[in-house]
Amino acid sequence: MSEEEENGIEKLPGVGPATAEKLKEAGYTTLLSIAVESPRNMADLADIGETIAAKAIAAAKKVADVGGFETGDVVMKRREEIGKLTSGSKALNSLLGGGFETQAISELFGEFGSGKTQIAHQCAVTVQLSVEEGGLDGDVIIIDTENTFRPERIVQMAEALDMDPKKVLSRIHVARAFNSHHQMLLAEKAREIADEHNVRLLIVDSLTSHFRAEYVGRGTLADRQQKLNKHMHELLRFGDIYNAAIIVTNQVSTKPDAFFGDPTRAIGGHIVGHTSTFRMYLRKSKGGKRIVRLIDSPNLPEAEAVIMVDECGIRD
Ligand code: ADP
Ligand code: MG
Repeated sequence: MSEEEENGIEKLPGVGPATAEKLKEAGYTTLLSIAVESPRNMADLADIGETIAAKAIAAAKKVADVGGFETGDVVMKRREEIGKLTSGSKALNSLLGGGFETQAISELFGEFGSGKTQIAHQCAVTVQLSVEEGGLDGDVIIIDTENTFRPERIVQMAEALDMDPKKVLSRIHVARAFNSHHQMLLAEKAREIADEHNVRLLIVDSLTSHFRAEYVGRGTLADRQQKLNKHMHELLRFGDIYNAAIIVTNQVSTKPDAFFGDPTRAIGGHIVGHTSTFRMYLRKSKGGKRIVRLIDSPNLPEAEAVIMVDECGIRD
């Protein structure tokens, strides 16, 4: 965010320094992000009154550069730059319309052991393949919040693809996040690594576990959603700037209401759901099989794919 934009928020009529601070904390870092919000959402997310929110939005609308219209061919050209990353499984790739897309967040959610971390590891390897081989010829950043990154697993997967394991490991930049605040800082710091290396994939495994553990009980929900919202927008921005794929993992809710049906409710509520471009629900099946269901996509039908997790990694 430029200083100009930051100062711009403070200069909005009716927005004092305290409100400006709350808005920034909640992820409203540009005038445009304020101009396009609804008063209700902003009041919830930034923990301010709806009247103040409405005033800030009205003021931002007057001064924000809301952008112009562009023709379809310009949009098409930008979409042509979108890369697709192979998951190792043809079935999963075609479920995704070719693979994990860059400039988008793909969310994997499912219960413990459903294969989320395995897919993340696999993509950390395949992203290094050439474009012809289904990769993006790039490095990867992993923000590991559950201490489940295993270099030994990377070695197995690299060898299965006839890649040099040492070289593959040297293009994986891993950081452990010790709490949600640290996790958010690491996401910001990721840009420094990406300015030096050709990073084409950013993984956050898991996106929600720290948030879930730290914000417990009534009254913490709004705060948690604010922080998650800010974090996810930082990730999206990273994806846009570096034309990178973003893969995040998420747990399923174990709230009592989940027991009455399929426990397919992901943690993080509508914030995570609305910011993810692709949402996939994973569940275990017999043998090493996993079923991946595409839940939400702007341009693909809801459908399922069966994948295998074995020593070599993710396969059909
Ligand atoms: P989560 O969804 O909790 O992140 P994981 O992705 O860690 O789950 O999946 C763990 C599962 O992956 C294990 O239970 C096992 O079935 C499978 N798995 C992990 N490593 C291997 C391996 N080397 N060979 C075969 N299967 C493996
Ligand atoms: Mg995991």
